Amino acid sequence: MTTMITLGTFVGGYQILSLAAGGKTAIVTCRCGGTHAVSVEALLAGWSCPARPLPPDRRMALAQESDERQRRADRDWRPGR
Ligand SMILES: [Zn+2]
Repeated sequence: MTTMITLGTFVGGYQILSLAAGGKTAIVTCRCGGTHAVSVEALLAGWSCPARPLPPDRRMALAQESDERQRRADRDWRPGR
């Protein structure tokens, strides 16, 4: 059986970040905001994340945090560095 899983591929809403265990285990990013190690077999069979989605206020806080980080990075950016 050939699997068509490569880095960056989306499988059932999960994006493959990297592959481990000789390509048998995938490290995926997830809608819950976390990363998971899932066997490729399970992923292809329709694995779903056991974590509950983040509560909306926590999601908001995370978004603000990353906005803030981006703003700082933009502010500190200088040409030629
Ligand atoms: Zn998850």
